[in-house]
Amino acid sequence: MSPSLQPVLDRIAAEVRSLPGRGRPADYIPALASADPGRFGMAVAELDGTVYGVGDWRVPFSTQSITKVFTLALALSLEGDPLWEHVGREPSGNPFNSLVQLEYENGIPRNPFINAGALVVTDRLQTLTGDAAGTLRSFLRAESGNPGLDVDERVADSESAHGDRNAALAHFMASYGNIANPVPTLLRQYFRQCSIEASCADLAVATGFLARHGIRSDGSTLLTRSQAKQVNAVMLTCGTYDAAGDFAYRVGLPGKSGVGGGIIAVVPGRCTVCVWSPGLDQRGNSVAGVAALDRFTTLTGLSVF
Ligand code: GLN
Repeated sequence: MSPSLQPVLDRIAAEVRSLPGRGRPADYIPALASADPGRFGMAVAELDGTVYGVGDWRVPFSTQSITKVFTLALALSLEGDPLWEHVGREPSGNPFNSLVQLEYENGIPRNPFINAGALVVTDRLQTLTGDAAGTLRSFLRAESGNPGLDVDERVADSESAHGDRNAALAHFMASYGNIANPVPTLLRQYFRQCSIEASCADLAVATGFLARHGIRSDGSTLLTRSQAKQVNAVMLTCGTYDAAGDFAYRVGLPGKSGVGGGIIAVVPGRCTVCVWSPGLDQRGNSVAGVAALDRFTTLTGLSVF
C-alpha cells in the first residue's frame, strides 16, 4: 500500500492559505461573481477507491469548463474519430472565449476545450443522444456516486442572460455548417452543462476513468486505452487555454480548469485530483488551484514527466 496522501494535502492547504493575492472570481457571469475567493478545497481519488480531502473539498461549486472533458469523452465514445472532423486538437494560444481564429480556420475550432470547440462537441453529443446536458449529468452522477449532483438553474439562467459571446461563436460556426442543431437548442444545452454543480470529491472520483485508461467505475469501457491517452494529451496541451504551457511546466499533469475556480488533473494509472478556489488569474485559471497542483506534484513526484 502506498503512503497516505493526507499529510501532503494538509501541508498544501496550509501553504496555500498564506498565498498573497488570490485573483478574482469570474464576473462576466453575474451568478459567479459573489463567490468567496477565500474558499479552498482539494481532493485526491486513488484507483483503489481511497479518497483524501482537505478544506472545502465537499462543497459544491460551478464546474463550468471542467465539463468539457466529460462531454469530449462521451462524444468520442459514441462517435469515434469522425468527431475530429468538426474540431481540432492544437493549442489555440488565445483566450477561452476568443473568436479570432474561427474565420481563418473556416469555422473549425482549434480544440475541444476552448468555448468554440466545446460548443461543437456539445452539438455532436446533442445529435447523438438528444439530450447532451442530461447525458452528461447522468454520467457524472454514475461516476461520482452522487445521485444528487445537478444543474444550478440560477447559474444557467445567468449564463443564458449574458451569453452573447457564446451565441456569437455558435452562430458563426453554424454559418460554416459546423453546427447541426438550432443554435438556441445548442446554447441551452451548453449553458446547462456548464452550470452543473459538483464538489472536489465528486469530480476527483468522476474523473477516475481517465486514470484507469478509459474504464468506468462499474468496470465497463467508456474509451479505449488509446482514446483515454488522446483525451489526457489534449488536456495537457489545451486544458488551461493560453496558460497550458505554464501549467504543464509547473504541474506536469493533464488538467482542465473552469471559471468557477475548479481544476481537475489526472495522474494516469495512479490517481485523480480536483482543487477548487474561486479567485482567477487573467487567463481564467484558479490562482490557488494552480499553486496547489504545483505543490502537489512537486511534493509527491506524481507527474507524467
Ligand atoms: N460557461 C463558461 C463560458 O462559456 C465556461 C468558460 C470557462 O469555464 N472557461 O463562458
